[in-house]
Amino acid sequence: MSIIKTEDCPICGQSTSAMEKSSAKFNGLYLCKTCAKALGSSGVFLIGLDKKHSLEELRNIVGVYEKDKEEHEIEIAEFNATKKIGNYVYFDDANKKFAIPKVTLTGKVKDLKIFNYEDILDFELLEDGNSVSKGGVGRAIVGGALFGGVGAIVGGSTGHKMKNTCSKLQIKLTFNNIESPTAYINFIVAETKKDSFIYKQTYPMAQDALSVFNIICQDNPQKDECDNQQGDISAADEILKFKQLLDNGIITQEEFEAKKKQLLGL
Ligand SMILES: [Zn+2]
Repeated sequence: MSIIKTEDCPICGQSTSAMEKSSAKFNGLYLCKTCAKALGSSGVFLIGLDKKHSLEELRNIVGVYEKDKEEHEIEIAEFNATKKIGNYVYFDDANKKFAIPKVTLTGKVKDLKIFNYEDILDFELLEDGNSVSKGGVGRAIVGGALFGGVGAIVGGSTGHKMKNTCSKLQIKLTFNNIESPTAYINFIVAETKKDSFIYKQTYPMAQDALSVFNIICQDNPQKDECDNQQGDISAADEILKFKQLLDNGIITQEEFEAKKKQLLGL
């Protein structure tokens, strides 16, 4: 009969049984697997920890990682897909978020990368790197994809030989976010014949996703700002009309000033 010796993880202080120990050590004590994983995920080299890092530094790294993980778990728990396009992209229309699932080789969803609708600036359907369709906030969608044109290339394709295979079909998204300015939704990642079942099944899904992104961008509050700017232009037009009325002696200077203030929202 053997006694399982337990000791405390030097980073988090939790008692670790032999089974939960990692192979990483700090000051001769084994780290628990959770802490070792957290440090490893943060890019810390796990050999010779005590020579390169202070305990406080390591605790901070683990703490930040766990907080991020916790926030991410809450974010995932709160995400409630109202529309799923295969396992390519999920939309949560109630919370105005969408998610790009991370899928394992066997097709299981293991994680979701979640984004806010309001952060989207542009979206673009790319086929083997060529732009098929694109649109964005305050901009009409261009390209054939939404109108059933399969494989049409924006802006003509002079000298571009139409291939009968596709190696990459993806939607590129651009965000108003310095930390993660772009994201890709990969629909096709390996050479696929365009007359194959997979291509004929996948292409409409990409079109479908594109339509949803188009609707999202039309509803985006940033678009309203553009509309308000147009509102300013029409206010200026209105003022010019009243200036004419003033110049023609139809209204008084006082009435003109009042109207001007009203139109400018002063
Ligand atoms: Zn630990």
